[in-house]
Amino acid sequence: MDASLAISSLIPHRCAGCRERGSPLCDVCRFAIASSPSVIVPASPAGVVTTALTFDGVARSAILGLKYRNGRAAARVLAGVLVRRLGLASVNRPPFDLVTWAPTSRRRSAERGYDQAELLARAVAAHLGVPCRRLLYRTHGDAQTGRGRDERLTGPGFRARPARIPIRVLVVDDVVTTGATLGAAGQALLDAGIAEVRLVALAATPAPRRSHAKARERPPGRLESA
Ligand SMILES: [Zn+2]
Repeated sequence: MDASLAISSLIPHRCAGCRERGSPLCDVCRFAIASSPSVIVPASPAGVVTTALTFDGVARSAILGLKYRNGRAAARVLAGVLVRRLGLASVNRPPFDLVTWAPTSRRRSAERGYDQAELLARAVAAHLGVPCRRLLYRTHGDAQTGRGRDERLTGPGFRARPARIPIRVLVVDDVVTTGATLGAAGQALLDAGIAEVRLVALAATPAPRRSHAKARERPPGRLESA
């Protein structure tokens, strides 16, 4: 256990959904999230992304809550939601050999102090009892701001660590809009010799908002008060 995790366990939790003191996700928010619909997003060229929730309402607040001080606690709870809703766990043997994530741009991780996709991937791996390793690296488009619409639709490029043995990899992300980023990540893994790739995300932005991918980059308060 790293030091920051040990320290964060001493700080009283606030619910990632409504910010009430208590648990990392209160019962009211847990119930609200349970009714959030799952969505399948096309992720050309590497198949589809199955997502557990729609990035709206309480689910949206809770996912944005990954950014708060108790981000790790929120990640653990949300990873549990992802694993259960998508049926990723298996009673017999782990359905995946490894969990990985599509890394966030260096600028965004630096602003936040961590990569929230990595945080979620590590929490999912812990739930499944399989290792989590970094397999993907961005090849271009590291800066998110100022990117053109075409590049946003195409997504960033990735290269993957080559696989020496055939393994099954689960790629985890927090929120998907077009599926292009995870599609590119999945293809890079297949090109590197990964035998099987499954793409999942905690949430998909609601369909009408998918053309406004930048909306989720804003702080939560600004959209809620609009
Ligand atoms: Zn709550």
